[in-house]
Amino acid sequence: MIVNLRDSWMVQLHQNIMQGKEKINPRDITFFNIDMIEQAARHTVLHLKDCDTCQTNRDVLLELSKKFPEMLNTISGRREFTNKLDSVVKHLRLKHGVYPKGFFTGVYTLIGVALGGITGWLLAKTQVLSMYAAMTTFLGIGLIAGWISGQVKDRQITKAGKRLDMEPKLS
Ligand SMILES: [Zn+2]
Repeated sequence: MIVNLRDSWMVQLHQNIMQGKEKINPRDITFFNIDMIEQAARHTVLHLKDCDTCQTNRDVLLELSKKFPEMLNTISGRREFTNKLDSVVKHLRLKHGVYPKGFFTGVYTLIGVALGGITGWLLAKTQVLSMYAAMTTFLGIGLIAGWISGQVKDRQITKAGKRLDMEPKLS
């Protein structure tokens, strides 16, 4: 039998997480995004050959999958857990174009509203429109345009298989 090292690593990580989940409060599974470990691993495994950071991150994720029940017991452990997982997710985003679910919808909507607000404010300032008309119109346009373009971009990310199934953290 040929043992595929890549797969055996993933199997080990999956088993660690399943066992660890039984040791912690179910609310913490959601709060600390425990499933994110495995999701990040699934994307990390694709880049092991050509990315040194992903090779390091593989060990980080495996360690987190083993130790998270103990880590979540202390405040410093919780911080360490969040920091390490965040840094892996951040690397996937910046180097490999992997984005959390709804990432662009959130970002583009905010940008759309900001641009709409500025446009409306400028038009009202130059007295082309009343402040009320300008703001309601352009904030609305910005919101909708931002949301739609974000949805389009998010769908492209999903189609390309580069989505992490978690809600973006807005902190
Ligand atoms: Zn990488």
